[in-house]
Amino acid sequence: MLSPQVVIIGAGAAGLMCAMTAAARGRSVLLLDHANKAGKKILMSGGGRCNFTNMYCEPGNFLSHNPHFCKSALARFTQWDFIALVAKHGVPYHEKKLGQLFCDNKSSDILGILLDECQQAGVDLRLDTSVSTIERAEKGYRLTTSLGELNCESLVIATGGLSIPTLGASGFGYQIARQFGHELLPTRAGLVPFTLTDPQLKTLCTELSGTSVEDCRVSCNGQSFVENILFTHRGLSGPAILQISSYWQPGDTVSIDLLPHIDLPEWLLEQQRERPSSELKTLMGEIFTKKMAGLLAEHWFASKPMKQYTAAELKAIAERLSDWQLVPAGTEGYRTAEVTLGGVDTREVSSKTMESLKSPGLYFIGEVLDVTGHLGGFNFQWAWASGYAAAQYV
Ligand SMILES: Cc1cc2nc3c(=O)[nH]c(=O)nc-3n(C[C@H](O)[C@H](O)[C@H](O)COP(=O)(O)OP(=O)(O)OC[C@H]3O[C@@H](n4cnc5c(N)ncnc54)[C@H](O)[C@@H]3O)c2cc1C
Repeated sequence: MLSPQVVIIGAGAAGLMCAMTAAARGRSVLLLDHANKAGKKILMSGGGRCNFTNMYCEPGNFLSHNPHFCKSALARFTQWDFIALVAKHGVPYHEKKLGQLFCDNKSSDILGILLDECQQAGVDLRLDTSVSTIERAEKGYRLTTSLGELNCESLVIATGGLSIPTLGASGFGYQIARQFGHELLPTRAGLVPFTLTDPQLKTLCTELSGTSVEDCRVSCNGQSFVENILFTHRGLSGPAILQISSYWQPGDTVSIDLLPHIDLPEWLLEQQRERPSSELKTLMGEIFTKKMAGLLAEHWFASKPMKQYTAAELKAIAERLSDWQLVPAGTEGYRTAEVTLGGVDTREVSSKTMESLKSPGLYFIGEVLDVTGHLGGFNFQWAWASGYAAAQYV
């Protein structure tokens, strides 16, 4: 029977970081995954270039029912620690924007770093390996797996969330948490596009599908993000929409300011004074694409020469463009979501060690916990930081 000191289930971002760090401390580590490849989400991430961290990472970039939980781990393994690891391996990277660091080449550079470190530290990595049962043993845990029975002192659950089942996601971590007496907070898809069913809105989005509008302010439930939005066949996507989706609950209204950098009432009055014979859609075509200006004019306003608008009409136009209110029908769900909100309640896990407060020797790291980052490299930073924290104690 294999008896490593530490078994880690899930060879994703958090599991790999935890394995390499614990093994470097001299612990014997078995890292197993039911998938045929480690780190599939790392490979898919950042459009193939892995947005591996964010230079401005801080606790305020994370959602959790217990917002203080992430602070300790994030402080003990920072973005600068991960950047140093990337630099040590000579992997080239760049800041895309807003502190988001991406590989110059491809995501496999990041996976390569983690696999190299695991190999050097002597991690026993087993893929295509499933776990059927886990029980408490006299000292630690006993697992029944496709490798046979395993015994370990410390068991780390790094199985991630529910998003993108085709990349190996499963609810296994939640099942284990429940088995050992943990509360689960309701899970839902985060960083995910919205779908729309209102026929008029749907037509607008379908006709504009593929069009992106830069730097819109998207708000919901007291949160706002200024970033691009993208019209899709199903509804709305783009970074600002993905960010706000994590704060949205079914039935909530989302407000979109399409031109947050322009004082619209003032701009419209100025256009009326200076270009009285120009049509509204012509002027809007200088800001948006011509197609979008035409469609907005058709769906939202009757376009006519500026001099024909009353002050009240101009005010209404400004309001529509700066506070477009819509109620999404839903989201695209786990099929396309980048993350899962909710999960293992952090109030029952030590923020210092990531150890269960219910079952000694059991640890939870990464996305399986109720800690979800904003878009921009924060989710990987949480995986690295929580994996590193647990590795000091397993
Ligand atoms: C398309 C996409 C792009 C993304 N891009 C970025 C980005 O650029 N930057 C960023 O910060 N975040 C990004 N994310 C989010 C990020 O990938 C996750 O937050 C992060 O991978 C979570 O790490 P984890 O180790 O907790 O879980 P995962 O990386 O999901 O790893 C979990 C592992 O557990 C394994 N597993 C699951 N169930 C079992 C089981 N029953 N038995 C054995 N093994 C199991 C899985 O196969 C998987 O290998 C992206 C996510 C997606 C889906």
